[in-house]
Amino acid sequence: MSEVQDGRIQPDEQCSDVIIVGAGIAGLGAAYRISRRNPGLTYTILERRERIGGTWDLFRFPGVRSDSSIYSLAFAFEPWTRSEGVANGGHIREYLTATAHKYGIDQHIVFNSYVRTAEWDSSTDTWMVTVQNDGSTPRHYRGRFVFFASGYFNYDEGYTPDLPGIEQFDGTVIHPQHWPQDLDYSGKKIVVIGSGATAVTLIPALAECAAKVVMLQRSPTYLMSGSRESRSATLARKYLSPNVAHKIVRARAAFGEGLAIFQARINPEAVKRQIREVASTHLPDGYDIDKHFTPRYNPWDQRMCLIPDADLYAAISDGRVEVVTDQIDHFDRTGIALKSGEHLDAEIVVTATGLQLQALGGAKISVDGAEIDTRDRFVYKSHMLDDVPNLFWCLGYTNGSWTLRADLTARSAAKLLAHMYSRGYTHAYPHRGDRPMTVKPSWNVSAGYVQRGQHALPKSSTRRPWISRDDYIADLIDYRFHRIREAMVFGRAATSDGSSG
Ligand SMILES: Cc1cc2nc3c(=O)[nH]c(=O)nc-3n(C[C@H](O)[C@H](O)[C@H](O)COP(=O)(O)OP(=O)(O)OC[C@H]3O[C@@H](n4cnc5c(N)ncnc54)[C@H](O)[C@@H]3O)c2cc1C
Repeated sequence: MSEVQDGRIQPDEQCSDVIIVGAGIAGLGAAYRISRRNPGLTYTILERRERIGGTWDLFRFPGVRSDSSIYSLAFAFEPWTRSEGVANGGHIREYLTATAHKYGIDQHIVFNSYVRTAEWDSSTDTWMVTVQNDGSTPRHYRGRFVFFASGYFNYDEGYTPDLPGIEQFDGTVIHPQHWPQDLDYSGKKIVVIGSGATAVTLIPALAECAAKVVMLQRSPTYLMSGSRESRSATLARKYLSPNVAHKIVRARAAFGEGLAIFQARINPEAVKRQIREVASTHLPDGYDIDKHFTPRYNPWDQRMCLIPDADLYAAISDGRVEVVTDQIDHFDRTGIALKSGEHLDAEIVVTATGLQLQALGGAKISVDGAEIDTRDRFVYKSHMLDDVPNLFWCLGYTNGSWTLRADLTARSAAKLLAHMYSRGYTHAYPHRGDRPMTVKPSWNVSAGYVQRGQHALPKSSTRRPWISRDDYIADLIDYRFHRIREAMVFGRAATSDGSSG
């Protein structure tokens, strides 16, 4: 129980140099980078759930897997040693847990610690972080820096659009974010609403034992087929040490993703043709590719969905899966009546309709008592907020692999900490001054959840260091050559309590 002294809440724990919020890929990566570069610093990871892994622990739907190469999703510092290039969720979870254990990061995690507020006090240059799980007594942690690795979506609830008449439906309705582990779907008629990454991952797995699976989409999504196994990784491992092989295969995956996006930008028609060719090779003759698999937007305007070894097309060809492009009119007792007049019979409906974007894990932040609305702030080099001291925020790429930017964020934070501690600074914040700036969204893809959630995110601009972009190569160059003092204000706290250790 925290005490109040001199009108101030006293922390339950001693002051840490860094408080990391979240024990997913980003939080574990931040812990590694910060402690490697600054071995003398202390850190605490506050995690609201009971286990490591974040996304990879929460999502347990059948077939859950990575939808980008596991090599660019994996940490740069810890080789992914399994043979597959597209990894299943359970294996990613094991990899994260083993990595946290190997580097002693797990000893720093305090589970069941839902961060509700972070309050900056400039008289001591520290953050007071309050955690409270449902109904429990609040606990307080003090830290010189806070690093939000809390992901990008609301863990409590996924996004479900208004589904007219859903209460009439006699069957089971499930959102993939909360998949019931005891659900028996064998021999059942299933309709999956949606055609994003989750739907195309889930459907081939359900089709293995369901009677029939229908993918109901309002409009199509681009799908790209890739090999589940990574031949280049197998080859590299044959001749090189695991670390070297991992570095090479990871770089290849990272730059390959960048190149694919670049190609789509400069010649979208050629990329569309390639995608169509793959579809027509795997789908039955005469299949209506235009209707079901040709979106109105260009490839990579939205994140492309990966189908390993064209598994979805194979399930369609076998007759186990049907794609219906139509709109829901209403639900009735036995299924879904469509606007076209067709009816889809269903015993189970899966709403693969997406996530709800959430900034800073839902935590409220304040600086000297004034609440900060992140939507009013510009993002500095994609990882700090203007005029907010000693706070890092980690948001990965939406188009490329999440970890690529998460790792740059962690390394930038580690570098800034080293700079500050070597000079005795106790606070640092980016400051943009009075120059007017063009505003653009900090995430620029048109995915539904990004569009719906733009209002939850801070702003970005069109010029550095305030630009936030989906471009790993440009960000890597920026990281290598960036001036640490660019647009930054450094200083020391007035009281000895906040001076650097
Ligand atoms: C099904 C699915 C598949 C995906 N596949 C890929 C892929 O192949 N490639 C890719 O790049 N990306 C993929 N993503 C995106 C994925 O979320 C990221 O790759 C990555 O796992 C995010 O890591 P993170 O640590 O930043 O966030 P998360 O994994 O979301 O972890 C955040 C952690 O913070 C904790 N937390 C949140 N708020 C608080 C709080 N207030 N207090 C305390 N703790 C808090 C959470 O409990 C969680 O443990 C996928 C996402 C989903 C849903």
